[in-house]
Amino acid sequence: MARTALIVGVTGQDGAYLAHHLLALGYRVVGTSRDAQTSNSSRLVRLGIQDSISVASLAPNDFRSVLKVVSDVAPDEVYNLAGQTSVGLSFEQPVECMESIAGGTLNLLEVIRYLQIPARLFSAGSSECFGDTREEPANETTALHPQSPYAVAKATAYWQVANYRKAYGMHACTGILANHESPLRPTRFVTQKIIQGVRKIKAGEAEKITLGNLEIWRDWGWAPEYTQAMHLMLQSDQPDDFLIASGRTTSLRDFVERAFVAAGLRSADHLELDTAMLRPNDLDYSAMNPSKIELQLGWKAHTTIDQIVDKMYAGELF
Ligand code: NDP
Repeated sequence: MARTALIVGVTGQDGAYLAHHLLALGYRVVGTSRDAQTSNSSRLVRLGIQDSISVASLAPNDFRSVLKVVSDVAPDEVYNLAGQTSVGLSFEQPVECMESIAGGTLNLLEVIRYLQIPARLFSAGSSECFGDTREEPANETTALHPQSPYAVAKATAYWQVANYRKAYGMHACTGILANHESPLRPTRFVTQKIIQGVRKIKAGEAEKITLGNLEIWRDWGWAPEYTQAMHLMLQSDQPDDFLIASGRTTSLRDFVERAFVAAGLRSADHLELDTAMLRPNDLDYSAMNPSKIELQLGWKAHTTIDQIVDKMYAGELF
């Protein structure tokens, strides 16, 4: 019997890559979107898997809809990837952010507990929860210092998962994800905004790209590798939280420079800075130490930051 995976938030970057990976492993995959009738299936289409999965409507913050889908699907594994995903948007819509991330995670935990099914739960956490790490890389024991509504919601979800694991013995865990990119990244995120902007300049459709702050440092990885780590975490009989990161920290300036190099252009001719684009409370420096997942599960990020930028520019999906 094929195992069944339920991917909550299948229409996003990670949902699409994870569905692709699980189908290749022989899973039956059911995905969800808030409205399956009108959802954006473009990523599933790009990966050629739209006809290999079914998509159900599920609003993470609506208990009834979560209960209905989980009981209908009877999954062996549940991947909780949905919710508001933009730090910038979370400053504009903080209630929606909290309800979709923390409320959504709580609903999934409660439904699995209420139905008393043996489903394992992976929940997508965020390295944003650590706040500014300076040059001391964060690991799974580092205290959380969330600095945005998004990070506060992710920190809440993290503790909900940890508490349900301990209190009810559930196989539930959080993958604390550092930034990860691909051509499937939505355009609202700065990395994809840069790639699309440079592409337009190269095509003669634009003169410049405008950014707020180049002196931010992040740990960037390659999304297909990160979705493999999500699956790996649920294969361990001992549920635990893991940081999923590359262990390399790069500045946004270097990311931009590489994008211009990929296009054969000079950044000095086409880059404009605008301080009006700065966020209320952005992190300067985010560094990660993912040695626990390498030691315990044997997972490691292999794609370098230059390869990531080049693949995004070229539109290489894998
Ligand atoms: P995307 O933004 O690509 O996809 C997000 C998904 O969530 C979509 O399927 C969308 O589905 C759904 N969604 C969007 N807004 C809401 C909302 N307000 N309420 C409920 N559902 C919503 O995200 P990724 O695939 O990149 O990320 C997957 C998970 O990993 C997310 O939880 C994200 O926060 C987390 N993460 C991602 C990182 C990254 O670098 N990519 C880094 C750290 C954490 P639909 O519109 O069809 O309902």
